[in-house]
Amino acid sequence: MRLNIGSLVGRKGSSFSVKEEIPSNFIQFPREVEGIGPVQVQLTITNTGEGYLVTGDLQLEVSLKCSRCLKPLQTTLTAFVEEEYLNRLPQVEDEDLWDEIPLVEANEIDLTELMVESILMSVPMKAVCQEDCPGLCPTCGADLSAEACDCLSPEIDIRLAPLSKLLHSLETKSPERRKDNGSTKEKTFKSKD
Ligand SMILES: [Zn+2]
Ligand SMILES: [Zn+2]
Repeated sequence: MRLNIGSLVGRKGSSFSVKEEIPSNFIQFPREVEGIGPVQVQLTITNTGEGYLVTGDLQLEVSLKCSRCLKPLQTTLTAFVEEEYLNRLPQVEDEDLWDEIPLVEANEIDLTELMVESILMSVPMKAVCQEDCPGLCPTCGADLSAEACDCLSPEIDIRLAPLSKLLHSLETKSPERRKDNGSTKEKTFKSKD
């Protein structure tokens, strides 16, 4: 995406805003990540005297995979951008730095690299389909949100713990049931009261 900054030339401190939707097919996503729909571009360009400062954000819907269960999920990426495009190269000793400094080219600035870099940086390293996604069994690979497997894992023990607690409290806190079962000890105890 190239922007013409001609209207700002020679007007230090002035700025304009851009709100646009552009196709996301210029971004090479890593494997397992896919852009859905356009990039929502919302930027402000300001003449700083030495160049043009670009600030704002980019938003894009993507599909990627849950890092635990590998199921596909959709999320909105938001990338914040801030970059200054200079009118001319500064007086720096190190010529290697020159390649990294974006320049104004004939009243135009090229936002492509800036957009690609910011969007790729905003891709989460570890996305999850839901906060408590149990993921896959490390032993047999079963999807634990859909099925329980026979492998004994500590996670399953934790999930069953409340159930065994409940069973325990039912056994100890229901004298009526014991009476129904004909517990003579219970009857004796009550008659003494
Ligand atoms: Zn998941
Ligand atoms: Zn398993």
